[in-house]
Amino acid sequence: MSGYRIGSGFDAHRLVAGRPLVLGGVSVVHDKGLEGHSDGDCLIHALCDALLGAAAAGDMGRHFPSSEPRWKGAPSVTFLQEVARIVAERGFVVENVDVTVIAQAPTLTPYVEGMRVKLARCLGLDAERVSVKAKTTDGLGATGRGEGIAALATALLSPRGEDPRTT
Ligand code: MG
Repeated sequence: MSGYRIGSGFDAHRLVAGRPLVLGGVSVVHDKGLEGHSDGDCLIHALCDALLGAAAAGDMGRHFPSSEPRWKGAPSVTFLQEVARIVAERGFVVENVDVTVIAQAPTLTPYVEGMRVKLARCLGLDAERVSVKAKTTDGLGATGRGEGIAALATALLSPRGEDPRTT
């Protein structure tokens, strides 16, 4: 295994009444929550796919199939911790991750620092290596109408114990 490895991830979930909203492992005050087999945390799902993609280790659907009862209602931080284990097992360390979450409402800015700390803890990283950015679509499309929330993520891995610039 050699060199840097980059991966990208995407996810989107529908917002529905009667569910708590959890994003980046943090509880967010809102009148709706994300639908899903798990807690619906699309931010973490996008991040998991970026990390798995960088390691060419498949995707969320392969590792955490919704047909599997043990993942039902699971907090998505559990998935992220498991993905961190898979990535480490394959000989990689996480250099940094960057996530963009697209939500018209609620305003996520007050939660961003808490999300960074939570994600960093799950990945065993310094929070300086974890970026979370919150955007709207200016009212455009399904996310703009508040029908759901989407997230994009990028992750950079390097081989453990090697200088990725020379391998
Ligand atoms: Mg998902």
